[in-house]
Amino acid sequence: MRALASCVIPAQAGIQLGGEGGWTPACAGVTEPGMEISAKALAAMRAHAAAALPLEACGILLGEGGRITEARETRNVHPSPATHFEIDPQALIDAHRAARSGGGPQVIGYYHSHPSGPAAPSATDRACASGDGAVWAILAPQAGAEDVTFWRDGEAGFTALPLSLIEG
Ligand SMILES: [Zn+2]
Repeated sequence: MRALASCVIPAQAGIQLGGEGGWTPACAGVTEPGMEISAKALAAMRAHAAAALPLEACGILLGEGGRITEARETRNVHPSPATHFEIDPQALIDAHRAARSGGGPQVIGYYHSHPSGPAAPSATDRACASGDGAVWAILAPQAGAEDVTFWRDGEAGFTALPLSLIEG
């Protein structure tokens, strides 16, 4: 495990993404199937990213399998929130717990915004990625059309994910 000080997604011992009956990381050589996101979740992320300016917004992507149905806003608890993000660890623990105990959606990944940068992984993001297979959504609330991109944080680094919008 890497120990880096900034842009932290808290690593919780024993917590796995996906789980029984859920999404599992794509194997090398398997074509990435892409993701679906509900219009509601996408709108919530964009609204949060805009409202948080000039600070970075962050949150948790929830859903089932390859479908993101909820973008849950969390606090950015990083001490330098204008240039970094750290998802509120308690919010992440709560989301994993709800998924494990049944009934709650799976934790599919995370989102955060770049208030003045492009919607792509920054050097800091790459340094902080854990390679755990999570989906990262990155928003650039001031960048215009390409204001959100989706990535798989895989063992070989970030891979762009095709995205389709679904109703709901
Ligand atoms: Zn970033």
